[in-house]
Amino acid sequence: MATISRRRFVFMGSAGLAVAARASRTLIAQGARYDLVITGGRVVDPASRLDAVRDVAITQGRIAAVRPTIAAGGAPTIDARGKLVVPGLIDIHSHAGRTKESPGLVLKDGVTGWIDAGSQGADHIEDPVAVARSSPQLGRVLINIGREGILPDGDTMVLARADEAAARAAIEKHRDMIVGVKARLSREVAGQNDYEVLRRSQEVASAFGLPVMIHMGQTISPLSKLFPLLKRGDVVTHMFAPPPNSIVDDSGTILPEVLAARRRGVVFDVGNGVTGHIRWDIAERILQARFWPDTISTDWNVTSRTTGVVDLPNCMSKYFGFGMTVSQAVACATTNAARVFPVFKDRGTLKVGAPADVAILELREGNFEFLDNYKGSITGRQRLFPSGTVLAGVRVSS
Ligand SMILES: [Zn+2]
Repeated sequence: MATISRRRFVFMGSAGLAVAARASRTLIAQGARYDLVITGGRVVDPASRLDAVRDVAITQGRIAAVRPTIAAGGAPTIDARGKLVVPGLIDIHSHAGRTKESPGLVLKDGVTGWIDAGSQGADHIEDPVAVARSSPQLGRVLINIGREGILPDGDTMVLARADEAAARAAIEKHRDMIVGVKARLSREVAGQNDYEVLRRSQEVASAFGLPVMIHMGQTISPLSKLFPLLKRGDVVTHMFAPPPNSIVDDSGTILPEVLAARRRGVVFDVGNGVTGHIRWDIAERILQARFWPDTISTDWNVTSRTTGVVDLPNCMSKYFGFGMTVSQAVACATTNAARVFPVFKDRGTLKVGAPADVAILELREGNFEFLDNYKGSITGRQRLFPSGTVLAGVRVSS
């Protein structure tokens, strides 16, 4: 910022002060106090309960002002008229840790924070940890309780792979990068072991005060047996998974153990993905019961452009037709997501002083096809498209 330090004022005397004040006013008038101003966009910042046309000024990597008009003066500007300006998106179920190119790819979608949700277990955790360390935006890792990570024949189908000691040692070694434990519990991943796998995951996570994320859907054990193991801050991903063992019954009633879990602070996440996680009739039933997701995530990997995932803005757009508002969808990928993992604690908002991570999106009108994971398709009238990203106050080239 172009201001003069207090210390110099002390030695300048009153004449000097007047000169300094004039110089400072001139700099402000010229806009030199800002590094970047995003002008004229519809700013949707649910954490500030703001949905209005505003200018957003950035200084030294932080949000400096959000006001109806801001004189940019000499500062570079981004013209966001006709676009949405939202906090940088946070994807809490991604597989961006699988390749070193992935973080840069999702950054262009507006994703300024990601969690790799269990791509690897203890045996190869160094791989996603290394990707997260070299990521331009904040990236962190959930360790798969299955020590060999995601396996075609099931991560923990052999129970010995749910190796608590190995997972603990890995977390101890990478305490700064591993922010939780992932347990994939469907029948083709954990088989009959689902309950024991979750119990072990919880043992490991609790020892470090970390959350567990469970991948639900098509479990062998009923949710009434599994959900009591979930504590405050844990995450249930794939919340729209169809039976057996979805969170809603045939009559459209949300299961009591699911409501109890939400009441004690368990987070319900979409986890879009490709296979077995969303079926439109189930999503409709859950949303008609007004059981809204807390967070929307992609379950992204490098092939997502060619699947029904596409990108996080697309995944956020899928629920407008079910009555979700733009502000709600943005909350699910910003402020709500930021609350799940402490590493994002001051993110997911455009409040003054917050890190200047910003996603610029286009909300287009038309007929858009949205896919579930069962070849089901619905048509929506609006879809969000990525249009630009600012990371720590710097515009990301597209
Ligand atoms: Zn996943």
